[in-house]
Amino acid sequence: MRNRPDSFSTLAIHHGYDPMENEGALTPPLHLTSTFAFETAEAGGAMFAGEQAGHIYSRISNPTCDLLEQRIAVLEGAEAGLALASGMGAITATMWTLLAPGDEVILDKTLYGCTFSFMRHGLAKFGVTVTHVDLTVPENLTAAISAKTKVVYFETPANPNMRLVDIQAVSAIAHANGAYVVVDNTYATPYLTQPIKHGADIVLHSATKYLGGHGDVVAGLLAGSAELVSEIRLYGMKDMTGAVMAPFNAMLILRGLKTLALRMDRHCSSAATIADYLEQSGGVRKVWYPGLASFEQHDVAQRQMSKFGGMIAFELDGGLEAGRAMMNRTQMITRAVSLGDAETLVQHPASMTHSTYTPEERALHGISDGLVRLSIGLEGIDDIIHDLEQALPKSPIRSAA
Ligand SMILES: *Cc1c(COP(=O)(O)O)cnc(C)c1O
Repeated sequence: MRNRPDSFSTLAIHHGYDPMENEGALTPPLHLTSTFAFETAEAGGAMFAGEQAGHIYSRISNPTCDLLEQRIAVLEGAEAGLALASGMGAITATMWTLLAPGDEVILDKTLYGCTFSFMRHGLAKFGVTVTHVDLTVPENLTAAISAKTKVVYFETPANPNMRLVDIQAVSAIAHANGAYVVVDNTYATPYLTQPIKHGADIVLHSATKYLGGHGDVVAGLLAGSAELVSEIRLYGMKDMTGAVMAPFNAMLILRGLKTLALRMDRHCSSAATIADYLEQSGGVRKVWYPGLASFEQHDVAQRQMSKFGGMIAFELDGGLEAGRAMMNRTQMITRAVSLGDAETLVQHPASMTHSTYTPEERALHGISDGLVRLSIGLEGIDDIIHDLEQALPKSPIRSAA
């Protein structure tokens, strides 16, 4: 045991694993097994009764997933972690565990499309009251929260329009009213924001995005208190959804985490440069990036994020049509949903990731039809700007990067 705290990257590379306990293998073994042998019938019974630790069956736990769970917990500053099949698996397993008919969940206005759909068309069908509140103004929560409110849920930054929520202010109000706070930290990652340290109860991820980082796996993670995480494991994951992570996918996410800090540094510096570039470009109506001085919640970003992330939203003067035409002109930048990959990706939320909202709902929830979403990748910054330069509408007042 070293006697000084390890840095983020050191934890992401070493935490919870000792090669000498694994025949010297530098890389943790991949435990491709569905089930686990019991030494005796009594030992098996004791494990099922929760009186003895140990693995029983891989829909409950698996050693490769277990290592990943320890890593996400330490990186988020939480007691315990849980690996799930997808981001949606993490979200649904959490909600099925925390909520019962008659309860209310308060959601921020803007949510990832499938999260919106699950809450509005899924939970609501089972007697949960689903209320949207603009949580960018924490006082709005004070007005809306009641004894029925069991969970307050939001993304920060939110997909796709980058709105931020002050985790500390919202958590204080929620906790004073006995509600849990669940934060989707997919955009920021624990390298930029650690919601648990600001008061959140559960932090969850689409690990498909930055944590995996290479666009080759769909996966989910969450972290929180040992008690809550155990409840989600044994109820929401094991019984209600069965949304377990495959051990092979855990290995891919463990590999991704080793370079998370390095990759995020590059995503953040490139995105900051490109946000500036877009803001100075003619034909661009508005750019949303938390690091810009023009960003409405720049002060919240400075308090809550160590850097400002790799995601940018922007809108062209010509709205939807101009955005579509621009997307069709990109050469290296790839038209695809998802985010956080090495490749720079561009997509149109209104017709793609957020088409689960009706046009009226999108208007109500602040997702404009002209919004274009960019996930800035790890390519050479000059090449990304060059591709944007040739794809953006031609305008004489646009300054060179
Ligand atoms: C992609 C995404 C999800 C869903 O994750 P999957 O891994 O695709 O199931 C949830 N929240 C946010 C913010 C996302 O971007």
